Amino acid sequence: MKKIHLLYSFWVLLIFNSCVTDRESENSFYLNQINRIQLISSKTIFFAENLQEDLNLTVSFFDRDNRPFLNNIDVPYEIYLGDSVIKEPKLDLARPGKYKLRVMFPTRENTFSNEVEIEVVEGDYISELVLDFSNETRNEFTLANNGTYDFTLRAFGPNGEIPGVQEQIRRNLSLKAGNLNTNKLTGIAIEQTGLIEVQASVFGVNSNILKINSRSDISYPIKEFQVVFHVFSNVFNPTPLQIETQINMANLAFGGGVRSSFRRNLNAVDAGFRFKLADRNPDGTPMNTKGINRIFTDKIYQDAQDPELLGLKFNSIWDPTQYINVFVEDLNSMGAAGYAYLPFLTSPVVGGLSPILTPDTELFYPIMVALDFRLFNGQYRDDNVLAHELGHYLGLYHTFQDCQTGDFCDDTPSHTLPSNPSLRFSNNRTNCLNAPFISTNFMDYINSVDNFTFDQKERMVKIYENALFMPKDLNKPDARLKPFRRGQLDPSIKPIICNF
Ligand SMILES: [Zn+2]
Repeated sequence: MKKIHLLYSFWVLLIFNSCVTDRESENSFYLNQINRIQLISSKTIFFAENLQEDLNLTVSFFDRDNRPFLNNIDVPYEIYLGDSVIKEPKLDLARPGKYKLRVMFPTRENTFSNEVEIEVVEGDYISELVLDFSNETRNEFTLANNGTYDFTLRAFGPNGEIPGVQEQIRRNLSLKAGNLNTNKLTGIAIEQTGLIEVQASVFGVNSNILKINSRSDISYPIKEFQVVFHVFSNVFNPTPLQIETQINMANLAFGGGVRSSFRRNLNAVDAGFRFKLADRNPDGTPMNTKGINRIFTDKIYQDAQDPELLGLKFNSIWDPTQYINVFVEDLNSMGAAGYAYLPFLTSPVVGGLSPILTPDTELFYPIMVALDFRLFNGQYRDDNVLAHELGHYLGLYHTFQDCQTGDFCDDTPSHTLPSNPSLRFSNNRTNCLNAPFISTNFMDYINSVDNFTFDQKERMVKIYENALFMPKDLNKPDARLKPFRRGQLDPSIKPIICNF
């Protein structure tokens, strides 16, 4: 009888109390099926402060057969904190202590949810605050006033990382970066130079300190080189426009004008080198087609590393103290888009290039850059291969060189190529300390590139000034007037092959 009476009063209440829409009466029918309520809270730890914080609860309902249902129906449950009903799904954060949370469906008996224990704690509950670089701005080097850092901050307590407290942390954060004080973790501009210490503090608890080496960019007069593209008569005949496009893209890259879809690198610079198509032959006569030298051969070389082809190129190279020599080849057999020979130095000004040779050394290897012809006719879509190869030509290694010496540039994180082939060209890299970062460097194998860094520029400038066979700077006509002498080819000198 009692049950019937309750059911009756339930219906009366509903009919009496509300404008009964079809939807509501349909709901109330289903509400009677509720057998179990499940409560999950994404946050269980709250810091005591004079604010309220959203509870962020997930309430699910199950029927007698333990099937979830009613997800799209507004169920009028009540939230209990201890034995009291709280009006809003918010928690008053003023009083530290342990609390039990439950929800109850009020129109039936005994349909309480499970209990969730939550705790309002003081700041000293935090045993560790871990400050880190965001993946996109992970770099211990920066140029002053050259982009902004983002940081991440995680709080740890006695049971590990404290979940769901990011909003409370953000509200109570102070971040010190050198002489800058802010309450933000993102968009942090470093304006000072020198060793900058970055530390966060929340509820009086201090994080670890990140150290950033901030430097000023150095600008040098622009160095400009003339470039000749050697084309074998039986491989591919590029149009003047295709050649011009390659040079323009390299100039854009070296001038710092390329933009990727990612955040601008903190160490990105105008690398200070520019390139123009040669308009005169080595004997001083005007070229038939600006920048293009055609080499006649009736032999087709299937193997790009054929020793005979190597000899042909060595003997075809124009004076390397006047021109950058670019060979347009079929590199299909190498599986490469390009390759380049590293320079030799007359003085040990940088690491990673040896042996050091005397200035009167005769040319003994084909100092050159090669591009696959498919980059010209649109079969390969990559705008920045020439810039990458010119980077090698000017003495840069791949950023993924290795984890011991790296690439001899401090501001490019040391890393290796991922072993998983599907991640080979991904901008999401992992550095040698196993921390993820976003790479956008021209000297990495990635889809989206946009920068040479300050240290890469410094390395290229030092190398240029001390290299054995490098063209004179067109903006400095008296430089490198000593004519080169072609000596004996040493086929053991190998290029860096770039398997994009
Ligand atoms: Zn390469």
